[in-house]
Amino acid sequence: MKTAFEILKQANDEHFALGAFNCANIETLKAITQAAANLKAPVILEASDGEINYMGYEQMVSLKRIYEKQVGIPIILNLDHGKDFDSCKRAIEAGFDYVHLDGGKMEFEDNVAMATEVVKLAHEHGIPVEGEMDHIEGSSADHTTEDPKNLQNEKLFTDPDRAEEFVRRTGIDVFASFIGNLHGLYADQKHLKMDLLTKIKEKLPNTWLSLHGGSGTDSNDVVNAIKLGIVKVNVNSELRIAFKMTLQEVLNASDEIAVYKIMDKPIKEVQRVVEGKIKLFGTAGKAA
Ligand SMILES: [Zn+2]
Repeated sequence: MKTAFEILKQANDEHFALGAFNCANIETLKAITQAAANLKAPVILEASDGEINYMGYEQMVSLKRIYEKQVGIPIILNLDHGKDFDSCKRAIEAGFDYVHLDGGKMEFEDNVAMATEVVKLAHEHGIPVEGEMDHIEGSSADHTTEDPKNLQNEKLFTDPDRAEEFVRRTGIDVFASFIGNLHGLYADQKHLKMDLLTKIKEKLPNTWLSLHGGSGTDSNDVVNAIKLGIVKVNVNSELRIAFKMTLQEVLNASDEIAVYKIMDKPIKEVQRVVEGKIKLFGTAGKAA
C-alpha cells in the first residue's frame, strides 16, 4: 500500500485533493471507508483530539488497518488539530500515518519550536506533518444562522512571507492556510480568497497545501483551489449533520431498538456525502 508521502505526491502531480473525513464512531468509519472502496479513492480518515479520546488511539489504528486491508484502498490515518507535542507523539507512536499540529493560537516562535520537534519525531517514523500558524476560525458545528463574512477577517488571513518562514524553519510537509476557509456550515456558501492562495503557492512551490473547513464551501472555489495546489480538503460538519439528522429521522419514525438496523440509514447518508466530496475533489479512481 502507498505511504502518505507517496499519495500526497500523487495528488500534487495529478491535481486532485485527498478528502480528509472526520470519524468519531464505527458508523462514520464504515461510511468513509465504503465510499473510498466504491469510488476507488484514497482517503484520509481523521480524528481530532476530542474524537480520538472517544475512539481510542490504538483502537483507531487497528480499525483503520482492518478496513484498509479489507477494501484494498490506501487509508491515511490523521490526527486532526493535534493540540501539542504530546498529543502528536501519542498518535505517532500508536501508528498514525500523518499528524496535523495546530499551533494556530500560539505565539509564532513557540509554534516554530513545537512544530520543529513534531517534524523530527514524525520523520523518524516516516510520516508527514501538517502545520498551521493562523488560527482557522469557526468550529465544526451548525452555524447556519451566521453570515460567514463576519468571521472572514482578512487581517487574520495567512501572510505568504510568514508562511514561507514558518515552513523553512520547521520543515513541515503540508501547510494549512487561512484564506477565508472557516470551520463549520454557515448561512451562505463560503468563498475563498484565490489570489492569496496563488501568492502562498508561489512562496511555497515545494510544500503541499491543505484546506480546512471544506464543508459548505463554494464548489467552484474548491475545484479552483485544487487546481492552484490544494492537495487535502477537510470535511467534518457536513458529515456530522448528515449523521445526526438522519439518525433523528430514523428514531422519530420507528420503534426499532436493534442498533444495527437503526444505524443503516445514517451510515448510507454519510457515505453519500463522502462520495460527493470524493468526486468533487477529483479523487475517484485514483487508487485503481
Ligand atoms: Zn480543521
